[in-house]
Amino acid sequence: MSQKIPISILNIKHTPLASTINEAPDIEDQEIVEEVLQYIGKAGYRHISDILLFVIPDLVNRNILNPNDPIIHVRISGDGRNVGRKVKHVMVTCTILDDILNIHKADFHYTTILYPGVENYETLQNVMEPMISELHNLVINGLIDPNGTKWKIEPYFSSDWKFMAIILGFNAANANYFCPWCMCTKKDIGNRDKIHKIEKNMNQIQSSKPPPGHLKAPLLPMIPLDHYVPDELHVMLRIWDRMWALVIQELKSENRFDDNIRRIISVEMQRISVRFHFWQDHDTQSWSYTSLMGGDKEIVLQNFNFEVLFNIERANLINQLWRDFYVLYKSMKEPETDSALFAIQAKKWLDLFLTPYQGEPNTISFKKGLYRPKDITPYMHVLINHIPEFIKLHGHFGLAAFSCAGVEKKNHDQVSAFFRKTMKNGGKGIERKSAIFEILYYENQFMYFTQQSTFDSVLKPQYFQI
Ligand SMILES: [Zn+2]
Repeated sequence: MSQKIPISILNIKHTPLASTINEAPDIEDQEIVEEVLQYIGKAGYRHISDILLFVIPDLVNRNILNPNDPIIHVRISGDGRNVGRKVKHVMVTCTILDDILNIHKADFHYTTILYPGVENYETLQNVMEPMISELHNLVINGLIDPNGTKWKIEPYFSSDWKFMAIILGFNAANANYFCPWCMCTKKDIGNRDKIHKIEKNMNQIQSSKPPPGHLKAPLLPMIPLDHYVPDELHVMLRIWDRMWALVIQELKSENRFDDNIRRIISVEMQRISVRFHFWQDHDTQSWSYTSLMGGDKEIVLQNFNFEVLFNIERANLINQLWRDFYVLYKSMKEPETDSALFAIQAKKWLDLFLTPYQGEPNTISFKKGLYRPKDITPYMHVLINHIPEFIKLHGHFGLAAFSCAGVEKKNHDQVSAFFRKTMKNGGKGIERKSAIFEILYYENQFMYFTQQSTFDSVLKPQYFQI
């Protein structure tokens, strides 16, 4: 039963040595870290076609897919969790965009590949090799189910910036040509008179003379470039980080970033029920602060009152910037959002971000502006220029359908549950194979029972008590 979707364990050739990851660990539990390190060099793989053939009957049964109009919109995603400071747990998943009611649930993102190791181009190219040729084949030839229906596969991709850049063979976000979709340069990022459209395509990227920044061949060239959709959650998280850093930077530049101001910030966070604190690094003496999760960041966007830090005029301006960004973030995710209206609102937000100073410096009439063009980040560029296009192209799903929150949760939960020497419910008569196999085996079982329960609820006669 659980073998319905076969599981292959692959050996990864040329596993690079783990080097220290320069990011905060997502999982720090020492027992898990040690276990994960033991599996470096191995990868688990389930064929996308096996997964699709398994889920199609249920999707047809629930009227999500229509055999008379046989098309499946398949979204591929990738995620790497930091397990300790030496290794990542990397996962590539597929999900059915058409199943819009379930798309945000972690259990509806099906693992096709998973491995502990390094999240880089060479390793992914190596591990994904069979999956890449499989997806290529599916996109070209479609998928024939046991009833003889030939399904057309329409592929999409969504992930955070780093993973997407690797898949596209593209350089890092801090390079001069930083944008995967257009030819905007770092110099032009603050030019508010220019609107950038998606101007590259996969044919150009694959050619022998690709646009600047495309250093390596794309790993998934069968997915059209305008089907690479940025993850809405990361758009919010990273723009939030920038806005927060700008506030802290301003306090520092005015020599006000002291114990008192740190206390005021903590108290205001407490008022809005967000757990937040500062601490000082022993070696560097620099101050760090809590890295907030998405939900807390949303609370701060809506409720943090900057009057506790700045004079009323300036606080109003900054409050407005944070509240307006929240409204923009909410409407970005809605399926009914009008792309033209969103483009106007996003542009207005950028104008607010770039509010210039007024009056003569060093006179009483002088009014400080907000931020400078060079403070604009690649994610802001994407929000202003490309999100309106993505809303227009894929808005029928709603951009929330491209969120990677479900994939991240799945990866985090699986690592926490399976990479332990003594599993909570394991060990009882079950001989442990490998944690990689166990994760995929468990997922097979879960998919089987989920499907059985929906079939049962539809097929079994229902009895109601009157
Ligand atoms: Zn761009």
